[in-house]
Amino acid sequence: MAKRILITGAAGFLGSHLCDRFIKEGFEVIGMDNLITGDLRNIEHLIKNKNFEFHHHDITKFVHVAGELDYILHFASPASPIDYLKIPIQTLKVGSIGTLHCLGLAKEKNARILIASTSEVYGDPLVHPQNEEYYGNVNAIGPRGVYDEAKRFQESITMAYHRFHGLETRIARIFNTYGPRMRLNDGRVIPAFIGQALRGENLTVFGDGTQTRSFCFVDDQVEGIYRLLLSDYSDPVNIGNPHEITILDFAKEIINLTGTDQKIVYKELPKDDPMQRQPDITRAKEILNWEPKVSRAEGMKITYEYFKGLSDDELQKREHKDFSEHIRR
Ligand code: UDP
Repeated sequence: MAKRILITGAAGFLGSHLCDRFIKEGFEVIGMDNLITGDLRNIEHLIKNKNFEFHHHDITKFVHVAGELDYILHFASPASPIDYLKIPIQTLKVGSIGTLHCLGLAKEKNARILIASTSEVYGDPLVHPQNEEYYGNVNAIGPRGVYDEAKRFQESITMAYHRFHGLETRIARIFNTYGPRMRLNDGRVIPAFIGQALRGENLTVFGDGTQTRSFCFVDDQVEGIYRLLLSDYSDPVNIGNPHEITILDFAKEIINLTGTDQKIVYKELPKDDPMQRQPDITRAKEILNWEPKVSRAEGMKITYEYFKGLSDDELQKREHKDFSEHIRR
């Protein structure tokens, strides 16, 4: 019989790619999303698939799923600094209450659960590259604290369910990931630069651009998560691409890739913006026999072509998704 999996955040960037992967592997997939930051366009190709069903539901509210469940992937959360500045309370709730609900459901169904944690648990790291033993350097009360601390709580409660209830749990610490279906106006650097290139605008580099990131193509990320879910390893595992680049050099790569003549303009560095970030993926290599395969050049080409191929109307919708109605709730 086909295995059944619940994926929260199914209409989001990573969630929708995970739905695709599990459908491809023959699973029955239940996608759940409250559609605040998610977008039904990301899963519209799955709606008629007999192995897929969509539940429009907010996981911070009590959740009920009929029938058996073998696995849960908890991927619901805003994931960009701009989003969690706009909806800080929802960000805290989905990481805490939403995770509690997912864990409770996993316990009830005797399902294995994987939660999407983040490199943000390392904050502005003083250890480089970051391995899973590092406790992090997080400002709980800064603008990013709502995300960072929610994710740290998420890891903590997940380990508590594992230790206290013997629940089968997995924790993926996801580093910056990119690819088709990212929301163009979410403020993250890759969609920002691609959107700017497509509109012929200058590229906005925050600070002096010496801060670093390490970008992982979505197919590699999905493969890492897939392997982690099916592994028997319950401690956190970094999933990311270790190839590090400064944001300034990355802006120059984008200018080369898009063949445009945009200039680079400098804007103020956001508060608590981590100065460096690079995953140590020794653990993922050893335990999952996984490492990224797609170079930044290949991945960025695929991503740029994807956005270039969208009609003006599609692009507009992806640029102007408005969730202001949720901001005061
Ligand atoms: N950034 C930038 N220009 C932009 C958007 C972001 O220079 O238009 C920088 C940002 O300050 C950060 C890096 O790019 O240092 C990655 O930002 P992103 O929001 O993508 O993710 P983060 O890793 O900070 O969560």
